[in-house]
Amino acid sequence: MITFTDVTKMYGDNVGLENASVDIDKGDFVFLVGPSGAGKSTFIKLILKEIDADSGSIRIGDYEVTQLSNREVPQLRRKIGIVFQDFRLLPKKTVYENVAFAMEILHRSKRQIRKRVPQILSLVGISDKADRYPQELSAGEQQRVAIARAIINNPKVLIADEPTGNLDPDTASGIMELLDQINMTGTTILMVTHAKDIVDRMHKRVVAIESGHIVRDEFGQYGYEE
Ligand code: ADP
Ligand code: ADP
Repeated sequence: MITFTDVTKMYGDNVGLENASVDIDKGDFVFLVGPSGAGKSTFIKLILKEIDADSGSIRIGDYEVTQLSNREVPQLRRKIGIVFQDFRLLPKKTVYENVAFAMEILHRSKRQIRKRVPQILSLVGISDKADRYPQELSAGEQQRVAIARAIINNPKVLIADEPTGNLDPDTASGIMELLDQINMTGTTILMVTHAKDIVDRMHKRVVAIESGHIVRDEFGQYGYEE
């Protein structure tokens, strides 16, 4: 689903990624870990074609990202849902509208939207908050809305960039359960995190980056002392 082959991205003399190769299958759940400046954001930006690789191949599903024209980039991004540490919800839209908006952008019919949004709000456990505004919700609830928005169009890949970074441990655990549940329906998940406790507990595949190099790729542990 996500295959990097000998990918290099330089920022002038700075290494973003160097000769990075990694293969993530459909349905995998992968933690991407490493110190600040290691290249994690570079990895994510390359997947989304927010930046271009200098060399190598990046395949996302059926797309060779390095060969995509600008016109085709929106099609690629539609296959990828993304959630962030800071939620990034639209403050003037309700929960319902925030999630529905992701379908409206793709010109889904009102009928489809009316059917699907309540389903997805129920899946993430916030049906009772549909008419609230983001600032009326707890952080954990806001992240649930963000996840609902990210998955409503059935992306093949869900990228979660430090999704528990603003959450207390119990709330974070609830979000991890939700991500695990989404993963079990077949969505490939790539999660960037510094949360050692979560990584150690979940026994998923861990890809570690340091100074632009993939230094470890195995099941199990976070592997760094914070
Ligand atoms: P991480 O997300 O793991 O913190 P990044 O991918 O942001 O790491 O950065 C990897 C390396 O690339 C770092 O050395 C960083 O300073 C450098 N870098 C990232 N973006 C830029 C940029 N726009 N210009 C120059 N150097 C950059
Ligand atoms: P229209 O009336 O234009 O056909 P809809 O009936 O789909 O549009 O929705 C109108 C508004 O009602 C939406 O913007 C949304 O905020 C709200 N809404 C619709 N269904 C729900 C729901 N199940 N829960 C909360 N709000 C809803």
